[in-house]
Amino acid sequence: MTSQQQRVGVYPGSFDPITNGHMDIILRATKVVDRLIIGVASNTNKGPLFSLDERVAMVKDEVARAKKDGASGVIEVRAFDSLLMDFVSTVKASVIIRGLRAVSDFEYEFQIAGMNRRLNPNVEPLFLMASEKNQFIASRLVKEIGRLGGDVSSFVSPQTEAHLKARIAAKKT
Ligand code: ADP
Repeated sequence: MTSQQQRVGVYPGSFDPITNGHMDIILRATKVVDRLIIGVASNTNKGPLFSLDERVAMVKDEVARAKKDGASGVIEVRAFDSLLMDFVSTVKASVIIRGLRAVSDFEYEFQIAGMNRRLNPNVEPLFLMASEKNQFIASRLVKEIGRLGGDVSSFVSPQTEAHLKARIAAKKT
């Protein structure tokens, strides 16, 4: 198959930090695209807890572990600081993968997808749902629970949990 025939998908997000919900979507996405590019956004206006480099490193780490555990498919991790649609054309993707957690995600995603379609009508948005146990996980809540000393071990990997604890502890000192 030539690269032109390959279906390339971009899964963009802040991944601050990467959760089991993100990984669930990533593994599903690899089944519908030939090559998945996880786009870690630098220009997040959410005041990230982790720097761009740290977020990229953590995503790469999770992907490497998933591959070791038998995940198939081509997965790349890249940072981007441009408009999403520019990043999508740079990597020659034809699909944008997003995850839907609840009805509350829908309105925002619907609006963004509509505007992105105006910017490039050849790129299709594709919405995936995580499995039931991962559906409600959100990075924002994981950080909040972590800050308050709660147990986040069922939401993120042990490695991410350790990074999170260290960062929260460092912020407190
Ligand atoms: P953003 O800052 O763009 O919302 P996130 O890193 O929070 O980025 O999420 C990236 C994508 O992953 C979004 O489409 C989001 O809806 C999706 N996502 C995050 N957590 C989950 C989850 N638990 N189940 C399904 N989709 C999820």
